[in-house]
Amino acid sequence: MNINNVEFIKSAASPRDFIADGLPEIVFSGKSNVGKSSVINRLLNRKNFARVGSSPGKTVHVNYFLIDRRAYFVDLPGYGYAKVSKEEKARWGKLMERFFESSGAISLGVLIVDSRHKPTADDVTMSEYFKAVGRPWVVVANKCDKLKAGEIEPNISLIRETLALTDDIPTIVFSAEKGTGARELMSHILKYVQ
Ligand code: GDP
Repeated sequence: MNINNVEFIKSAASPRDFIADGLPEIVFSGKSNVGKSSVINRLLNRKNFARVGSSPGKTVHVNYFLIDRRAYFVDLPGYGYAKVSKEEKARWGKLMERFFESSGAISLGVLIVDSRHKPTADDVTMSEYFKAVGRPWVVVANKCDKLKAGEIEPNISLIRETLALTDDIPTIVFSAEKGTGARELMSHILKYVQ
């Protein structure tokens, strides 16, 4: 599908700014630098809509993009950036707790991990958030262009094992750079965007 209209709506720094207008929400999460902005830009066919490479870990905000006035892409703040202060980490934790508590409109969760590495403890924590919501979610294994063909299968197995994924949770081999997996991810998203 082609997305015709994308509007940046807001950057919520606190729970009272979260949007709760009933439109479906596709919620993207991932550690800093995993390529979350690049994945979103790839899906939107935009070069620089979600900011790529902006000072990692500095922005604890929930960003809302309105997609063809039918749904939101919700860009959760990246996590796991080593140089972040204890206070910022705590702020991230609180904001995420509140976000998932008031998560009535999450239609689909998208957890982005690095296809080259074993998921981090923070990735596991984030996967627990998505599991607890009880809504459909998928795992995107990004940067697959950096893998040799023979590495893909064992890496995906390691990701599935580490995140303890049940059979109903798909892993999508993805490259924001090359476009690999974009159709597949979009087909999941479109199930929830009417
Ligand atoms: P974010 O912090 O998760 O939003 O990550 P960004 O989208 O800013 O990407 C971080 C870095 O990884 C940038 O230098 C991107 O160009 C690069 N990157 C993102 N996706 C891919 C990918 O699929 N393949 C490769 N090779 N690099 C990528």
